[in-house]
Amino acid sequence: MSKTTKKFQTEVQQLLDLVIHSLYSNRDIFLRELISNSSDAIDKIRFEAHSNEVLLEGNSDWKIKIIPNKDAGTLTIRDNGIGMSMAEVEENIGTIARSGTKAFMQALKDKADTNNPELIGQFGVGFYASFMVADRVTLETRKAGNTAEGCRWESIGDGTYTIEECSREQRGTEIVLHLKDELKEYLEEWKIRSIVKKYSDYIQYPVVMDITRTETPKGVNGEEIEGAGTIEKTEEQTLNSMKAIWARPKSEVTEEEYQEFYKHISHDFENPFNTIHFSAEGISEFKALLYLPSKKPFDLFMADRKKGLQLYVKRVFITDRCDELLPDYLRFVKGVVDSSDLPLNVSREVLQEDVQIKRIQKSLVSKIISTLSDVKDKSFDEYVTFWKEFGPVIKEGLHFDYANKEKLQELILFESTKTEAGSFTTLKEYVERMPEAQQEIFFITGDNRANLETSPHLEIFRAKGYEVLFLTDPVDEWVVQALTEYKEKKLKAVDRGDVDLDSEDEKKEKETKQEEARQEFGDLLSFIKSHLEDRVKDARLSKRLTDSACCLVADEYGINANMERILKAMNQPVPESKRVLELNPDHPIMKIMTAIFKENKDDARLGEYADLLHDQALLTEGSPIKDPLRFTRLVSELMVKAAAK
Ligand code: ADP
Repeated sequence: MSKTTKKFQTEVQQLLDLVIHSLYSNRDIFLRELISNSSDAIDKIRFEAHSNEVLLEGNSDWKIKIIPNKDAGTLTIRDNGIGMSMAEVEENIGTIARSGTKAFMQALKDKADTNNPELIGQFGVGFYASFMVADRVTLETRKAGNTAEGCRWESIGDGTYTIEECSREQRGTEIVLHLKDELKEYLEEWKIRSIVKKYSDYIQYPVVMDITRTETPKGVNGEEIEGAGTIEKTEEQTLNSMKAIWARPKSEVTEEEYQEFYKHISHDFENPFNTIHFSAEGISEFKALLYLPSKKPFDLFMADRKKGLQLYVKRVFITDRCDELLPDYLRFVKGVVDSSDLPLNVSREVLQEDVQIKRIQKSLVSKIISTLSDVKDKSFDEYVTFWKEFGPVIKEGLHFDYANKEKLQELILFESTKTEAGSFTTLKEYVERMPEAQQEIFFITGDNRANLETSPHLEIFRAKGYEVLFLTDPVDEWVVQALTEYKEKKLKAVDRGDVDLDSEDEKKEKETKQEEARQEFGDLLSFIKSHLEDRVKDARLSKRLTDSACCLVADEYGINANMERILKAMNQPVPESKRVLELNPDHPIMKIMTAIFKENKDDARLGEYADLLHDQALLTEGSPIKDPLRFTRLVSELMVKAAAK
């Protein structure tokens, strides 16, 4: 293929413009990103070579070489990793917008701080960081196993790039940065050393550079030799320590080292929320260094997100995404596991089935849960900040991790009618606060607290002084399917089924009154029910309303308004389900309608009022009404009539 010039996708160019013109506060990180890509590429070839040794082409002296060239004004980063085919270059390198592109630009906007380049690695668009320091970037690469064809890519970030075939002796990738004039300090030895030390010290492959020293020759006893002049000596030096921090005793690792290592493996620029470093002995021997991040990543709920821990076997890297090590609901945990029991040539298929891996997972999960439980008990406020970020994910565990359900249910937090907005309660505290007569734990699901607070479903619970939990995460609808009881108290939705909060005495007291109401409104209810037949399942008198005229109630296992909304938002089919219309016998509208009904069963107003009541009930639960035009017409007519009186 001859050299062709192509256009970047619009989004990519937008991002490049931003990188070129607005990101300048910490340019040093470009090197971290490129070294990290090289290190990933070496990880990949090593892994592939376990099953296909030919790929190595006899070249397994792993290294990432940095070559400053002051004459040319270029800085080169070269690796002997897996390399890329031409198609991969097109796909990966600054050409086609990746999922992180948009998210990265959004994050910069959200922070109202466009000058925050440290975010770049988190979004999987680290390569673009090259354009912070270079006004031209050339990349040459050859994929392992494809000795015939290499690829050369070049761009000055102006909307286009060129791509062509080239021949390359060595497998791997070489990136040449033509540094901007004012940034030539990136060619200085001290500068490169300090960046590598700061950001890439834990990279497990040597990051090397040729260092030339001028020396004066010395005699055998170290004495100066007159007139010998000077000689230049060049040697390859390793700039990083490559230390496996997880393999060292906890007492020897400083807080800063833990934090730097976290940033290195996570690409997060904030410190972790918590660090868990331990080793296990006995039936399963391994070392683990785990981190709980402080902020959720942008792609926490995206299906194609990168997840999993790094897996090593006796200090030898196996994979950087072993997602079998953690259950999905702990997918935000970052870190490294180094096992002493697994074979070195373990393949991905084996990992999925391996009992050792299952044992390790079990022990990691229990360590993470106990750590969280400690934080919750010792510093609740801190736990709350963590919960706000990751609570919705941890709740998934109640559904999927049956073995740890008991422990997980102690970790979950909810807002409630008795907490201030933004404050939380545990289930344990809820139960401790329950009045003696209260039998069940009540909750209401919905999309936000403010809407739920005005729900008519809460009226009777307010009147009784019973606390109701606000469940406002979409996942909560599934949580309550799994968490049906806590400490022998059933969890009960206030908008489902019947509510019966009265004691035996109260029941007796109210019996006659209820009987009278049934007599009084019986015929009206039958009318309403048949009028709304295609929209509601039943019309009945309510025991849960004290002020509002009506509300809709789902069956114990039926679909409520919140579930309907969630399914629609997920583009899922919403199963046909009708709810029960409950009417408040103490509301004046009931008396008015009964009077009309007694006078003339066929009065047109009765149907209109029934429609209006149903629409009101839909509106208060946040559901759309079928015919908004008719609704407004009826309300306007009523207003006119009322004013005319
Ligand atoms: P990220 O590394 O977070 O995925 P980048 O924009 O830095 O995002 O890189 C995009 C992709 O390009 C990488 O995922 C990888 O597939 C490929 N890539 C980048 N650098 C190299 C390299 N040195 N060797 C091989 N592949 C690379």
